[in-house]
Formats: sequence, structure tokens, C-alpha cells
Amino acid sequence: MSDFSEQTKGIWAEVKANQAKRKQCKRHRILPEDWAFGRRITCRECGAWMQATDLIYYIEGYEAAGGNADDIWPGYRQEQK
Ligand SMILES: [Zn+2]
Repeated sequence: MSDFSEQTKGIWAEVKANQAKRKQCKRHRILPEDWAFGRRITCRECGAWMQATDLIYYIEGYEAAGGNADDIWPGYRQEQK
């Protein structure tokens, strides 16, 4: 029982640390080779990991705010075609 709660605390601490890194990142950046479906993606700027779907929402939000998706993921738009 205590092993389980220690493990849970460890995972939670890791998630919180990751979230802190992710929040202070000015702009996430990944390269096409970082992408693999169903795998975590690690940002080259901040070192935080995220799920592929989170990154897609992030890019969509960035574009909606007038940004260029290529700043985050070079060739992003080409690969969607
Ligand atoms: Zn980042």
C-alpha cells in the first residue's frame, strides 16, 4: 500500500515538474523525426513531454493566434496534405 502511494507521488511529481517546464516555454519546437504516433513528444526548447494530440491542439491554437505552424514544427502543413 505504501509502495503504491509512493509510486503515485513520484508520478504526480513528474507530471507537475513537466507541466512547470511546459508552461514557461515561450514556444514549443519539435522536428519531424520527433514524431511517432502514440508516443510522447519532447520539446526541443523546454524538454517537456506532451502527447501528440496536445501538440496538435497547441499548433492549432498558435495558428489561430496568427502564428506560423512551421515555427513549431517545420513542414507541419506539408505533412498534413
Ligand atoms: Zn517547449
